[in-house]
Amino acid sequence: MAADSSSQQKIEKKIVVIGAGPGGYVAAIRLAQLRHTVTVVEKEALGGVCLNWGCIPSKAMIYAGTLFERIQKASELGILVDGLRLDMPKLQHWKNGVVQKLTGGIGQLFKAHGIQTVYGTATFSDSKTLSVQGNDGQTHTLKADAFLIATGSSPVAVPGFALNGHNIIDSRDALNWTEVPKTLAVLGGGVIGLEMGTLYAKLGAKVSILELSDSILPGVDSEITQLLKRSLKKRGIQLHTGTKASISQASETEISLQLETPKGTDSLTVEKLLVCVGRKPNSQGLGLEKAGIKTDAKGFIPVDAQLRTNVPHIFAIGDVTAPPLLAHKASKEGLVAAAVIDGSKEVLDYRAMPSAIFCDPEIATVGLSEEQAKAQGYTVKVGKFPFAASGRALSMNEPDGMVKMITDAATDQILGVHMIGPEVSELIAEATLAIEMGATAEDLSLTVHTHPTLPETMMEAAEAVHGLAIHIFQKEKPATAAVK
Ligand SMILES: Cc1cc2nc3c(=O)[nH]c(=O)nc-3n(C[C@H](O)[C@H](O)[C@H](O)COP(=O)(O)OP(=O)(O)OC[C@H]3O[C@@H](n4cnc5c(N)ncnc54)[C@H](O)[C@@H]3O)c2cc1C
Repeated sequence: MAADSSSQQKIEKKIVVIGAGPGGYVAAIRLAQLRHTVTVVEKEALGGVCLNWGCIPSKAMIYAGTLFERIQKASELGILVDGLRLDMPKLQHWKNGVVQKLTGGIGQLFKAHGIQTVYGTATFSDSKTLSVQGNDGQTHTLKADAFLIATGSSPVAVPGFALNGHNIIDSRDALNWTEVPKTLAVLGGGVIGLEMGTLYAKLGAKVSILELSDSILPGVDSEITQLLKRSLKKRGIQLHTGTKASISQASETEISLQLETPKGTDSLTVEKLLVCVGRKPNSQGLGLEKAGIKTDAKGFIPVDAQLRTNVPHIFAIGDVTAPPLLAHKASKEGLVAAAVIDGSKEVLDYRAMPSAIFCDPEIATVGLSEEQAKAQGYTVKVGKFPFAASGRALSMNEPDGMVKMITDAATDQILGVHMIGPEVSELIAEATLAIEMGATAEDLSLTVHTHPTLPETMMEAAEAVHGLAIHIFQKEKPATAAVK
């Protein structure tokens, strides 16, 4: 992945970036650092979905929900709290403050780097010209040497579930509630549905998650999703998989749903219904056909390993290109595209692309699941270590979950790490580095880890691959006394 632009003569370019989400704004800053002239077109707000109505506000709310729940459980630790209550308007005020600080920071960085921002909706007139219908009512024409499309994605609409901004809503509205609904149904058991459902369950709602397919979270190791299902149940969240829902009646105050479940027809009445069935790329209305840019059947813009579309001077990054729809994927693609526009031969390798789901316990994954590794023809060796055997997890009163390491039996190379447990969204960084560096389980087990900390579970899972974990009993004995 190393950049190699040193030997080439520097050519300063004029670049227009469409969309200021974590893909577009990161690319714009890097291009400006590389001394190109950059204009960003944004129709709504700097920071895109991630900072304004995605990752940051949802994680701020989830942090508050977790704190609220932990204070209620603190009596187990001898901490007694009387009169605990939730002030939702104040929580919203704090969350909005976090968002404002971060989006304001991007504005300052743009200013400091001399990046021009045009607020409006961009459409290609041809492959070298962009027309922007400005939010100020003016039309701007922008020409450039290279364009970067970073227009992101929007929620998929479901026939029969028309959003009304009041009690049938998407995640954007649900992040702004100033009252916790008593009952909430979430349509869709994907990442956003599970995170939002868990959040509102923590804040006191009775939550039901309705998922059409038989399983949740495809791509996550099935042992990990089983543990998640158990934890949802423990928290009182009803997960209905294999269930087709339809609205039978809706009023201002109540929504009645009919459920076709594997066991027959059922019904459910709730105060609010949150629709989170997936996201679609924002590629329509961009005038892509006028620029000669192709999309696939689902509307995603195909790109090569250097983020180039089929039109060589037009690049595309982030959600608009392909799943996984993740902020850090968009940012990394932005950095690679910026390097390539600058003249580097950099390419992006997706093997070490981590992912985190902020339900409770958290789930984090990188690389292949056991099922995926076997399907790709690997003979795998697996090491598992439960958080119940971690001194740190127990001292935090967070014993649920495990780290599962999947390795290639022939080479000991780590193929994937899938985990569920406390703070695994942080722990996944070590696993990502291990996969990026081509590390073996032995490398990880030989690395000294601070005690008592959660990362020790990574080391023990690596030792467990060889039957040598210290803090659990493993029936299977190692082939040799030493690892290798
Ligand atoms: C509730 C929720 C929680 C999430 N949590 C996480 C998480 O924890 N971690 C994670 O990695 N990801 C998370 N995501 C996904 C993440 O937000 C996206 O993957 C990420 O924002 C994609 O970045 P992007 O730059 O491709 O596009 P976006 O962030 O979607 O930004 C695109 C920008 O382009 C602008 N735009 C679109 N069309 C035009 C046009 N024609 N002209 C001008 N401007 C235009 C839009 O206004 C927008 O600002 C979450 C998403 C949601 C909805």
